[in-house]
Amino acid sequence: MKFKKLIEKYKINGIRATWLKNFVLVSVIIVSLVSLVVGILVRWYYYNSVSVSLQSLDTNLVQNYFSSYLSTTEEQFENGAKRFIEEFSEKDKMEVWVINKDGVPIVTSSGFGISDHPIMPDYTDAFSSSDGIGRWTGKNEYGEKVMAMTVPIEKSDDGEYTSEAAIRYIVSMEDIDRQLLVLYFYIFLAALVIILIVLFSGRYFISSIVNPVEELSKTVNKVASGDYTARVKYDEGNDEIHSLCSNINSMLEEISGMDRMKNDFISTISHEIRTPLTAVKGWGETLLQIGDKDPVMLQKGLEVIINESGRLSELVEELLDFSRMQNGALKMKKEKIDILAELDENVFVFRDRSVREGIDFVYTAPEEPAPMFGDPNRIKQVFTNILDNALKYTDQGGKVTVNAVIQTDGFLNVYFIDTGCGISPEDLPKVKEKFYKTSINYRGSGIGLAVAEEIVKLHDGEIEISSVLGEGTTVKLVLPLEKVQQALNATEKE
Ligand code: ADP
Repeated sequence: MKFKKLIEKYKINGIRATWLKNFVLVSVIIVSLVSLVVGILVRWYYYNSVSVSLQSLDTNLVQNYFSSYLSTTEEQFENGAKRFIEEFSEKDKMEVWVINKDGVPIVTSSGFGISDHPIMPDYTDAFSSSDGIGRWTGKNEYGEKVMAMTVPIEKSDDGEYTSEAAIRYIVSMEDIDRQLLVLYFYIFLAALVIILIVLFSGRYFISSIVNPVEELSKTVNKVASGDYTARVKYDEGNDEIHSLCSNINSMLEEISGMDRMKNDFISTISHEIRTPLTAVKGWGETLLQIGDKDPVMLQKGLEVIINESGRLSELVEELLDFSRMQNGALKMKKEKIDILAELDENVFVFRDRSVREGIDFVYTAPEEPAPMFGDPNRIKQVFTNILDNALKYTDQGGKVTVNAVIQTDGFLNVYFIDTGCGISPEDLPKVKEKFYKTSINYRGSGIGLAVAEEIVKLHDGEIEISSVLGEGTTVKLVLPLEKVQQALNATEKE
């Protein structure tokens, strides 16, 4: 509950709070448990080593030593005890008491007097325990922590104790406890350092996830409210989070590109619709006023209305094609055709237009047919788009050349060369993109080349454009010829 309040107080929420609650809490519990176990093991080790050193004392030797004194006077027993203590080699490590036959401690290795009521449960235990040794760890009558071991020294042959005489070994545990305290402190310090490392490294790790995620969420909110220029700000890196941020930025780039395209589309199309509509409306109103009084004017007006409505329906067709193309529904009605025959037809129409517009038109093509399996109307649509551009972007006095060449490798190359305004190197890679127009001064929806390229691709061909600004443009159309026979065989089989 307190932990929860702490999280709320410091406004830690989301992934950070979950991490703090789960990972950090679990780490703290694990580190505390490990420290506790280490603490217990260390204490056990220290206490055990003291206990082992007590147990390693040769108790038989003691019993043998005292066997000659047991039947003597109290004084002789005490003298023997004093000698025993003098000869005891480990006096510096522990204290030794000799307890007489009546159970009273009479000599100590430290030389200090013994209290009247010493606490020695080990002494009592020694006479009842199975191995004949009494052990005890606890506080003595002076409040000092000790580990003690008592060994009775008078035993009959059948193993019964014949008097209460015993030797008591006592080791002070105070030093060991002090050392243990220092060790506990170091263990606690190590645990604290581990927890801090976990906390800081985890905090850094969590921040490296949470910060970009927060940034992502902010950006997505901005985009949702219509700001397509928003981008995710992130530090460089190559982990999954960074690649997610970079991918989202690429996606936003794409979205803003599409948004731009939508705006371009609306403005281009509105412009393209408005021009012919204004002409139709204007001429309609004029004709309404003059009636049939001026037949020449009437003729001219009706021609404009028919031409402009033709332009509008062409535009609508172009848009429909474009929409079909977007949906992948641009269907081809392929049959065996002679591409050059289709090209001839188009050239015929545009040659007339070039004469009207004062543009020189040159057409060269081989005599032999160029058979292909394709959709004649769609192929014509490609020629129309390219030729319309060539004439549209070439001023009076310019020249348009159409040159068809059958390649030996089974391809037909058609070059459409104009001496028009040309395309800048920056615009050139984009002209085949949908709705891309280099200038709004020319009529056009900006989708002609996009649709033409799609049609050519569906015929396994390609369109290459090269241009020099101010000098002219060359559109190279490559269409495959050699697939006719195979395609016909395939359809016959079907
Ligand atoms: P549009 O209907 O606007 O002509 P297109 O997709 O056919 O659309 O062409 C895209 C753009 O490419 C044109 O707006 C024009 O800027 C440029 N372009 C295409 N053909 C030529 C050309 N022959 N000369 C100069 N610019 C051209």
